[in-house]
Amino acid sequence: MKELLSITEVSLKISEGKDLKKLFNYAIKVANEAFGLENGEIYLFRKTEKDLSYFDKVLHENNAIVNNFPNGSEIVTPIKSADKIIGMIKFTRRNGNSFNNTDIKNAEVLASILSISILHTELNEQVKEKLNKLEFLYEISQELSKTIELEEVLDIIVKHIKKTFSFDKVAVLLITKDGRYLKIKRASSGYSKEKIKNLKVNIEKGEGITGTSAKKEETVISNDVEKDNRYINGSSDTKSEIAIPLKAKGKLLGVLDIESNIKNRFSDEDKKVLEAVASAASLAIYNALLYEQMKSLAEKDELTGLYNYRAFRKELDKEIRRALRYQKTLSLAMFDIDFFKEYNDHNGHDVGNIALRKVGQIIIKNSRNLDFPARFGGEEFIVILPETDKRGTYIYAERIRRIIEKEKFPGEEKQPNGKLTISGGVAECPSDGNSAEKIIKSVDIAVYKAKNSGRNKVVIFNGGESNVDN
Ligand code: GH3
Ligand code: MG
Ligand code: MG
Repeated sequence: MKELLSITEVSLKISEGKDLKKLFNYAIKVANEAFGLENGEIYLFRKTEKDLSYFDKVLHENNAIVNNFPNGSEIVTPIKSADKIIGMIKFTRRNGNSFNNTDIKNAEVLASILSISILHTELNEQVKEKLNKLEFLYEISQELSKTIELEEVLDIIVKHIKKTFSFDKVAVLLITKDGRYLKIKRASSGYSKEKIKNLKVNIEKGEGITGTSAKKEETVISNDVEKDNRYINGSSDTKSEIAIPLKAKGKLLGVLDIESNIKNRFSDEDKKVLEAVASAASLAIYNALLYEQMKSLAEKDELTGLYNYRAFRKELDKEIRRALRYQKTLSLAMFDIDFFKEYNDHNGHDVGNIALRKVGQIIIKNSRNLDFPARFGGEEFIVILPETDKRGTYIYAERIRRIIEKEKFPGEEKQPNGKLTISGGVAECPSDGNSAEKIIKSVDIAVYKAKNSGRNKVVIFNGGESNVDN
């Protein structure tokens, strides 16, 4: 009777939803008192790393076992859940032969009560985890809704996912304009430099785990990358990888790639949650890309595809500030098409437009990544060359002049010198001008000199009238 009362007490505790460890301690304490035990232990197989061979016999028999030793007795009862043994209760007494059938029954009742409480707690944990994940989804969506800038959007995605799930590496890859490749756009900490360098290269659709996900447009999980021949090795500590396609409005935008240093890291449950995150991320990326497009349209000259005057002035101010602060040199190259009025008059405005576009394309094609080529006005072009002096800029400008001289333009034979040519000027900051106005004026003077000395040439601004600080 006393024992049964104790068991009822334990089961009452269960309904209070205490955490498992506390509950076990309580159950042991009550049982020790009620059964007059020397010792009681509870093991949960899922959570313990201990060697369990000791319990082999119980596992084999699938029932309580009583071991009566001359100087002590023990009773070992399995804790079962859906007929699977998930743990053990072991009670010991110092007296030999001291456990009887009633003790076994009581121990079994306690075991089944504990089994219920274990299930109960685990369910609770699962619900809590689900709620946490929902909360995370809500949080990341909230964060994403605060910005439209692509860089910030990517930052939020990568940092939030890495932090919340404690993954080792999170990266966003976006599809290139031609739709053929993936390119890494943002990677979390945890990637080695080597890996980033590898990922910087275009990944072809269908190549690697990310490429496979992009090609199939579905989530790909590799829970043991070493045995997965799709895996492109880049970081030897990666053991599992999941790649989720980023899609919005039916269009593939890229892939969310997550790597873990643990084998079998990604469950179906993870997949579901991450797919929900990916769909929120996709929408934010879609909007940010749209915004980038709009911004780029506002910065570009429609006819030539070069930057427009407004974008040029903004960039020039920024570059001049940088050059002055870090004591660097920057140069401007300006080009003006020779006798373009005559070209228009002979060939028509539309053909003139085609020539303008062609000159613009030649300038873009022959500029470096850091150069900033813009349409200055009508048939005038201007290029900012950061960290370049006017000697270097002269070589650049001369190359462009020569290419245009050689290039065939329809109807150019009617030009005064038989072909379509340009005149150019170069000047540097700060020595030829330490403000936007002054350096533009200097480069304009150089072009004017090129025009006056026969056209189809590049002239280096060389002071004459000083343009610094006046
Ligand atoms: P110079 O060698 O002295 O530069 O002579 P030019 O005829 O090129 O110079 P001018 O400034 O007299 O004429 C510029 C011409 O460029 C006039 C204008 O019709 C033409 N132009 C300016 N913008 C455009 C454009 O967008 N499309 C076309 N087709 N022509 C343009
Ligand atoms: Mg002009
Ligand atoms: Mg001209």
